[in-house]
Amino acid sequence: MLNIVIFGPPGAGKGTQSQLLVEKYKLAYISTGDALRAEMAAKTALGLEAKALIDQGQLVPDQMVIDIVQNVIIARQSSKEVEGILFDGFPRTVLQAQALDRMLEHTGSAISCMVSLDVPEKELIERILIRAKTSDRSDDNEETITKRLNEYLLKTKPVAEYYIAQGKFREVNGLGSIEEISDRLISVIDECH
Ligand code: AMP
Repeated sequence: MLNIVIFGPPGAGKGTQSQLLVEKYKLAYISTGDALRAEMAAKTALGLEAKALIDQGQLVPDQMVIDIVQNVIIARQSSKEVEGILFDGFPRTVLQAQALDRMLEHTGSAISCMVSLDVPEKELIERILIRAKTSDRSDDNEETITKRLNEYLLKTKPVAEYYIAQGKFREVNGLGSIEEISDRLISVIDECH
């Protein structure tokens, strides 16, 4: 099994690169951000609770996303069509990372590596503001971006340390063309399984 976490601040290009990686390595894909937006669009109770936080640029409670991921892991367990899972936007806290390890352990598997996209802050803000013109994401505006970046630095960046300690952290330069960046990702992923 090839289980990968794609990591980096908002606007680093995780979603774009994920599409290429999923195809290349035949992976199931879970984006907790996409899952939460689907709940918001369907106006479920969970979606409404999430929306209040997402619109403020804050993280949703750990257990909310852990439950979403748990359901996907269970569903994938019985599928023979995929060769692993790509996690995008999860784990975002050390508690989530610990929960992910336990969930995978139950299925006899583990994270192969975390690949991190390194992009300077100024570039991130520019990219998100460009994305805001075409996306209908309620959190893609200048005020919320600053809050999302703060949440990232405070709560999510320490997750890298968790994978460094396990020898599973790999960082690539997230600047350049989509193809250049995916080539860099592929060369580190090929080395980690
Ligand atoms: P994303 O699409 O990954 O940028 O996620 C959009 C928003 O959803 C984030 O700013 C958070 O408010 C929320 N979110 C997504 N994934 C998580 C997670 N793993 N933990 C907490 N909040 C999350």
